[in-house]
Amino acid sequence: MKVKIRRELLDYLLELARSFYPNEFAGLLREKDGVFEEVLIVPKGYFGSKSVYFDLTLLPHDESIKGTVHSHPSPFPFPSKGDLHFFSKFGGIHLIIAFPFTYESIKAYNTEGEEVEIEVVD
Ligand SMILES: [Zn+2]
Repeated sequence: MKVKIRRELLDYLLELARSFYPNEFAGLLREKDGVFEEVLIVPKGYFGSKSVYFDLTLLPHDESIKGTVHSHPSPFPFPSKGDLHFFSKFGGIHLIIAFPFTYESIKAYNTEGEEVEIEVVD
């Protein structure tokens, strides 16, 4: 299994992660024709500096939302216990971008928390 992400989106996500640092940022990913194309940033206040918190009841109903993204201010792009719990509830694909926010520090996970290969689409 592979996840396809548009290069422009990936670059924008890295930019967001850098600009939110040392806080985390969180967003919802929209997919079109099998490629992640767009991010909806989750407004501040839904998450803090310690852990990302998505309130599932506040999420917009949008069929094109097929995943999430959040940053880790640490150099470890691995899901926390809370992340894993959230992934299993939300479904889809989840990106974690760790410090220093480069292509090498992005990882994608499925609902089970298993790593999924990322394919960058130009
Ligand atoms: Zn996390």
